[in-house]
Amino acid sequence: MVEYVELDGDAFSTILRGAIEVRGKETMFHLYGNKSRKRFFVENADPLQTAYRGSTSVEPENISALERLALFNEAFITPVIKKSRKVKKRVGEAHTHTANLNQRNCRLTIRDKRGDGDLAYIEDIMKDENIQDWLEIIVSIKFKDYNKIYEPDTVILSYPKKERVISKNGRVGWDIILAAYHVIQDNKRLRVNELPIILPRRYYWYYNGALNPAKDL
Ligand SMILES: [Zn+2]
Repeated sequence: MVEYVELDGDAFSTILRGAIEVRGKETMFHLYGNKSRKRFFVENADPLQTAYRGSTSVEPENISALERLALFNEAFITPVIKKSRKVKKRVGEAHTHTANLNQRNCRLTIRDKRGDGDLAYIEDIMKDENIQDWLEIIVSIKFKDYNKIYEPDTVILSYPKKERVISKNGRVGWDIILAAYHVIQDNKRLRVNELPIILPRRYYWYYNGALNPAKDL
């Protein structure tokens, strides 16, 4: 059983920058990497710049753009695969939630009355592409306008299954929570496991153990 997700530096920083760029609207990424017995390793995150972005939803809109991206990745990634031991492929997607920042908002939404929701979307992809399992990373982001002026500073806090990045610079700041979900096709039903995320080691240099995450949320 897959036990954790490891995010490479490239994927991690692309996801943060993509989320911050459009902060008030949701945005999405294709995730490339590999899955082994115990872990998902996410090497790259492709931001989908042609996706429809709303404040409470995001979805691919331009199918021919996705086809172009797939063709490019096939040409760009496949030759790399041949040289590496692990097969790199699309392992899932990431998308942001911008409505509220808390651990509750950082999870997959279920199928609603209109048939929308994160799990409905994932279920359709898994059915269409005959995929047995899928990784979805949810990135909950909140922009902050402070009264006080801060020196540039970033803190990373680790919860049992989530990572939180608090970044301040001048009067502005971003508070971002990341969570990872493994969606598994199990006897025609979907099973969802939340997985802990391991960030690239260099980012933990910012870790500040003095903050109390439980109190802070
Ligand atoms: Zn969502």
